[in-house]
Amino acid sequence: MAQAVPDEVMMNADLIKDLADVAKDKALRQGVLMRIQETPNSSELVTYAPFTLFPTPVPKAVFLQALQVQIHFNTLVDKISQDPDFLREALASTIAVDDFTARLFRIHEQILKEGRSQSIVLGLNRSDYMLDQKNGKSSLKQIEINTVAASFAGISSRMPDVHRHVLKVAGQLEQSQKILDNNAAVGLAMGIAKAWELYGSDRAVIMFLVEENQRNIFDQRFIENELWMRNIPTIRKQFDDVLKTGFLDQEKRLFVDDHEVAVVYFRNGYMPENYISEQRWDARLLLERSRAVKCPDISTHLAGTKKVQQVLARPGVLEKFFPDQPQIVEQIIATFTGLYTLDMGTEGDKTVAMALAAPDQFVLKPQREGGGNNIYGSGISQVLEDGKDGTERMAYILMDKLHPKPGKNYLLRRDAPLEITNCLSELGVFGAYVRQGEEMVMNKCVGHLLRTKCSEDSDGGVAAGVAVLDNPLLI
Ligand code: ADP
Ligand code: MG
Ligand code: MG
Repeated sequence: MAQAVPDEVMMNADLIKDLADVAKDKALRQGVLMRIQETPNSSELVTYAPFTLFPTPVPKAVFLQALQVQIHFNTLVDKISQDPDFLREALASTIAVDDFTARLFRIHEQILKEGRSQSIVLGLNRSDYMLDQKNGKSSLKQIEINTVAASFAGISSRMPDVHRHVLKVAGQLEQSQKILDNNAAVGLAMGIAKAWELYGSDRAVIMFLVEENQRNIFDQRFIENELWMRNIPTIRKQFDDVLKTGFLDQEKRLFVDDHEVAVVYFRNGYMPENYISEQRWDARLLLERSRAVKCPDISTHLAGTKKVQQVLARPGVLEKFFPDQPQIVEQIIATFTGLYTLDMGTEGDKTVAMALAAPDQFVLKPQREGGGNNIYGSGISQVLEDGKDGTERMAYILMDKLHPKPGKNYLLRRDAPLEITNCLSELGVFGAYVRQGEEMVMNKCVGHLLRTKCSEDSDGGVAAGVAVLDNPLLI
């Protein structure tokens, strides 16, 4: 079954219209909110965050598989972040041509040279998957792992009640009971709280480093509020605040606006556009050099690049990170799809030939985040043909295109028409871990996120305006 409700509900236009009104009001009541595009920095006018009218069926076994592998991805990301030789080798070709990754890498090298001033590491990541369909079977395949600014842990924690309610009103009580609770915001806050506690100063604050455009502020407020509930103070600051008022004392303690900062939680700084001036790079460096716990620190940020993902899929690489733990290696590898190098040389040449022969079977990915950056179909040929003898291709990796089973749903978006839509979904799983020196003091899978988009849109992202929030309905 590819839909949560029978056709008699799905196709009943009057009922759907009623249900959409019920759903929107429920979303507003639950706090499934976003500021409007016109005034992204004011809460005077807000709207519901876009979401599906109905939840989407997801096979239980595959869902559980995604939850179970998460702590291993946490461990893996953490191990990579502590392996400078691996990072240097994995990213060598990329940084030769991609200026953004090169700048991040330079900061990483500088920190290594100076020595890390903080042994506490906080990782909050989200591993994303599609359920690839082959021969009538769906298998869990990783799209990417986000180690910086992974969003929607907050708002998605309020989505279960929205869909439960809609299903009940639609007369589907039994289905409504198949929607799981989900509270990743609490889990992320627990990770932040742990890092704060280990930092060891009651006065010190958690600094959310935020963007100028704060449309998605409610998602972050869920986490802030969880921290305040534990009497842990949080502040919201931008790069410019850090530039104007930030400094390190003699012990490299970070101060911003006179607050000592225990944890910097990056919800900014992951795209080239976030660094519109050299000074912003200076601010990033200042934060990295500080004794504050960084979430993520620069090496964990780099561990989440698509190039690293591709290198991890090479034979024998995972085994190096998990010697004597073949069952973990197996669990992780099972989620990998085909990932191909575009480095110069015969292997990269082979990738180019393969992509040009069947561009529709692949996705070409640069080292970027936030949605809307991937290249598909004829775009792939364009990039690879133009750059065939040049080195620009090294900025990308090539990946098998996944084919999840489409399902029917209605995408609820402000001012968008209410129409039945062919949809694809992407499952995200949130991980949280804290390490102090050699010791992992926390390593957890803390929740999930289901996003759904129109099957004609190749790229994703809720903030990018393509995907909308959803819930898995376990079948
Ligand atoms: P970003 O870091 O910008 O989110 P992603 O790797 O998640 O980059 O790609 C963005 C979107 O593109 C995904 O949300 C998904 O919808 C689509 N996409 C990415 N990789 C694939 C793939 N291998 N097969 C099918 N769709 C993909
Ligand atoms: Mg990403
Ligand atoms: Mg993504």
